Amino acid sequence: MPSALETLVKILKLEREKSFQNTAVSGGLSAYSANWSAQAHGQARKPEHHALVDEISGIMLRYDSIEDPDQRRSSVEYMLGRITGRVPAPPEAAARVAEWAARLPAQSSPPTEDAQRDEQAPAERPEKRERRERPPREAGPAPAAQQQSARPPRPQQDNPRGQQQQRPRPQQGKPGGRSGGEGGEEREGGGEFSSLDVMEFRSGTPGRLDIPVRPKLTRPPRQPRRALSEAEAADLLRGLASSVEVVRGIGPAKVEQLNRLGIFTIGDMLTFLPRRYDDYTQISLISRLQADQIATVIGTVRHAEVRVAQRGRKDFFMTVDDGSATLNVMFFSQHYLISSLRPGTQVVLHGPTGQFRERIQMTNPEWDVLDVDDLQAIGIVPVYPLTEGLNGKSMRKLMKRAVEYWAEQVPDYVPEATLERAELADLGWAYRNLHFPESFDHLEHAQRRYVFDQLLLMQLAILDSRRVWQSAPAHALPIDEGDLAALTSALFPYALTGAQQRVITEIRADIGSTRPMNRLLQGDVGSGKTAVAATALAIASLNGRQSVIMAPTGILAEQHFRSIGQSLANIPGPQKPEVALLTSALPAAQRADVLQRLAEGSIHVLVGTHALLEDDVVFRDLALAIIDEQHRFGVEQRGKLRAKGGNPHLLVMTATPIPRTLALTLYADLDLSVIDEMPPGRVPVRTKVVEPAAMERIHDFVKSRVDAGEQAFIVYPLVEASESIEAEAALEAYERLRQVYYRYRVGLLHGRMKPAEKDAVMTAFRERQYDVLVTTSVAEVGVDIPNASVVVINNASRFGLASLHQFRGRVGRGGLESFCFLINDSTDQTARDRLKAMELTNDGFRLAEIDWKLRGPGDLVGTRQSGQPVFKLMEAMNPLLVELAQREARTIYAEDPLLALPHHHLLAQRVQMLRDERADLS
Ligand code: ADP
Ligand code: MG
Repeated sequence: MPSALETLVKILKLEREKSFQNTAVSGGLSAYSANWSAQAHGQARKPEHHALVDEISGIMLRYDSIEDPDQRRSSVEYMLGRITGRVPAPPEAAARVAEWAARLPAQSSPPTEDAQRDEQAPAERPEKRERRERPPREAGPAPAAQQQSARPPRPQQDNPRGQQQQRPRPQQGKPGGRSGGEGGEEREGGGEFSSLDVMEFRSGTPGRLDIPVRPKLTRPPRQPRRALSEAEAADLLRGLASSVEVVRGIGPAKVEQLNRLGIFTIGDMLTFLPRRYDDYTQISLISRLQADQIATVIGTVRHAEVRVAQRGRKDFFMTVDDGSATLNVMFFSQHYLISSLRPGTQVVLHGPTGQFRERIQMTNPEWDVLDVDDLQAIGIVPVYPLTEGLNGKSMRKLMKRAVEYWAEQVPDYVPEATLERAELADLGWAYRNLHFPESFDHLEHAQRRYVFDQLLLMQLAILDSRRVWQSAPAHALPIDEGDLAALTSALFPYALTGAQQRVITEIRADIGSTRPMNRLLQGDVGSGKTAVAATALAIASLNGRQSVIMAPTGILAEQHFRSIGQSLANIPGPQKPEVALLTSALPAAQRADVLQRLAEGSIHVLVGTHALLEDDVVFRDLALAIIDEQHRFGVEQRGKLRAKGGNPHLLVMTATPIPRTLALTLYADLDLSVIDEMPPGRVPVRTKVVEPAAMERIHDFVKSRVDAGEQAFIVYPLVEASESIEAEAALEAYERLRQVYYRYRVGLLHGRMKPAEKDAVMTAFRERQYDVLVTTSVAEVGVDIPNASVVVINNASRFGLASLHQFRGRVGRGGLESFCFLINDSTDQTARDRLKAMELTNDGFRLAEIDWKLRGPGDLVGTRQSGQPVFKLMEAMNPLLVELAQREARTIYAEDPLLALPHHHLLAQRVQMLRDERADLS
């Protein structure tokens, strides 16, 4: 948050830009002055500050009455000059300062609202102050009357909203934190904020540590790079690949602990990023804590004990005192903390507050022994994932040593020209600031660089694999334009939508040539992708070639087998293509038969699951491969399928709406087609966000639909990482719901079931053997249950809009008026707003864009097969950065497609490493 002075500087500059019309702030400067002055006094530290605030607010107050623009100009310039220290104080300022100086000491703490405080041993306090080098903090706002009387008279204005004023803060003791703002280093970036007065003003609420506001770092500093010979670079890389043992302070025990965290080499250490940064400038005062917030506090353990609760559970309880009040802290079942958190220990706690027996309490917070060095050296402290035996403090110490020496040793592989163009930081700088950020601006630039690198390498790897892949020819599958029109009208009982036709035209152009098609088809749930696929399969068989379509589940494969089989049976002419199904459910004898006919070429179109990726599945001449619900497959499987033929044309389809820029990055080797139009007659699913309290009514509603002969899904989406926990939760819900719906038939589907069991449940549901299906699994995306008209989604706020949209897409497929209820289990306003977006639109792409803005691309990008996220630091990824990386990758590629130039050799190495790691990219 900018300080009041910073804000005012912005406003005054805006006023200048707007030619002094008094429009920079709505209502005009005079009206704003009272509000501003209250805020600024609250942040002021010294008599001089208060005096300045008085002077400025007096001028603001008179601003409205000035009519001459020139006079307004000089008024604004004068204020700017005073704030930034360019203009000396007027003679009468000295009197004001003296007035404030006389007043301030009398302003010591008002009677505290917190009885705790009085209980404290007085002797402890001064000593603690000294140790922490913090100014004392006040407890609670004073009553308005007292406040007014404590103020010196200010003739030029009367604050009509006196009760909003914060008491001026006394200046006692040393300001803690960073060099007090007077050091030259604070002035980097220059500008008007280098004025002493401004630097010492603190934004935010009183009670925070005194760390001065820095100027914004708009562009990270770059150092000229020393050219490395290949041998030198190799040397450095060897160093980074060496064991963590080489770091001072890391002995066998620490090695073992770090290994447990997946850290083996120095390089691993550098890329082991904090999972959070604690901002020690944002510490809350215990006396100011309220229930139901997430807060960070710093204090000293006063009292610690193990409490035995019922059933022998041993809890750890302590009180922590920060000078303003004492906080009760409870750690359930963590009695062993008694040995770490002894009385006298200074700790940082971060966690949720609650109310227990009329007192604020923190329960199971994250904790860390306070490192006084941290507090004084930096305001932002990295918090790393830990493991038994390794606490935050020692982890930071080791990291610090590793980072200080090694960050600068990482050879920077991104060409300097790219960094210049993209305004990105050097690699060493980025590593240093990822671990020990100098400021949040620094951190942002560091994260930008880190994410950019991943995007760039991925782009380059993809561009290269595309080059390789396109160098071998495919079978051309041409069709005459007129024949195509006749074909589609024969295949389907309905007319294709404009979007379907357009996409088919794109596909026709691709497969008509010997350059292998590599296309991604995106289309919302129910947009009719299957018809597009069927058309492509038909074209292949008209050309006398084999083709295949792979779906993620048996039931989807069966659904395709039926509907595609039906369509292809309508191909004009006597020669109907032979369509076969291959899933793991197929009995051995039938399977053998399918394999044989496939190898001979008498099966023309194969529909199946990943069972068709097995080695013994051999085609005679596969010319076209289609993957449905692509996101459900690893990209490795894409490669495997492609390897079944002599470079077949490839079409991958997905209902997961991915914003275009992101799609182009993740699938940069794919051309993109989008079906952005629904078949006619679709009624949008009516969506409502509801509170859990309304559950009763929802159940009644579901029953009424079921009584009308329709069916419902009740979804408990996967929350826990573990399938067994998920299954347990689903079983519990199922048992409960069976009682609620005792008159109805309730089915259960969860992720722990075997594929065949799942298929059986889905089939039974489709055949109306169940009225209500309780499900946890997203597995059945794409299954058509035309008779289902209601979906109830629990835990809704924990899911991305894209996922919710998928769940919702299970209803509204059969022309029935359909409903989706999102049970909002969060009190968080942004979570609620996000869910509201579901009420407003049925457009998956819109939702994906909204989600990306609000939550980052995590849900959209998904995870690799291994469960590892595709990217680290996904939250720092944004569309602009994606575009930037794409542009830079193309520039580099255009200059040097093989990355053979000397200044690309490190880059080539990294791209190769990525390709080795990710078989799917090649
Ligand atoms: P998805 O894109 O989700 O895979 P499907 O291909 O399963 O969608 O199509 C959903 C439903 O819409 C199917 O029942 C299909 O028959 C129907 N459909 C597809 N295209 C059209 C169209 N142009 N006109 C009318 N109905 C269509
Ligand atoms: Mg589909």
